[in-house]
Amino acid sequence: MEPACVFCLIAKGQLPAQTVFEDQELMVFRDLNPMGPSHLLVIPRRHIGSLAELGQEDRDLLGSLMLRAAEVARQEGLARGFRTVINTGPEGGQTVGHLHVHVIGGRQMTWPPG
Ligand code: AMP
Ligand code: ZN
Repeated sequence: MEPACVFCLIAKGQLPAQTVFEDQELMVFRDLNPMGPSHLLVIPRRHIGSLAELGQEDRDLLGSLMLRAAEVARQEGLARGFRTVINTGPEGGQTVGHLHVHVIGGRQMTWPPG
């Protein structure tokens, strides 16, 4: 737990969030500033700063994150498709320093992203 990390606070239940899934390993909640009709964030409960900090020992966790992303997309009814994004580091556009997978859907996505 990083005391100043907003996603750690959400994971601990110390900051409210619109939670759609949780288990011992992961949480999924709605983004405060949605970029589409559906915008969910999948996070590990354990503080991990970013994708760049993961190692071989985190293979199972990474698998869980991505499988959960697909599962919540199904639950949201995003059968026509969705966008998964992991921003990493300042140049990658990461603004919250706790690993998270964005799941965005409910509208046509474009490419390339900005
Ligand atoms: P990123 O820019 O990839 O680090 O994404 C961080 C995301 O977290 C942004 O889309 C924010 O809107 C979202 N966010 C920040 N604080 C909260 C919060 N307290 N509850 C839900 N989403 C949040
Ligand atoms: Zn954290």
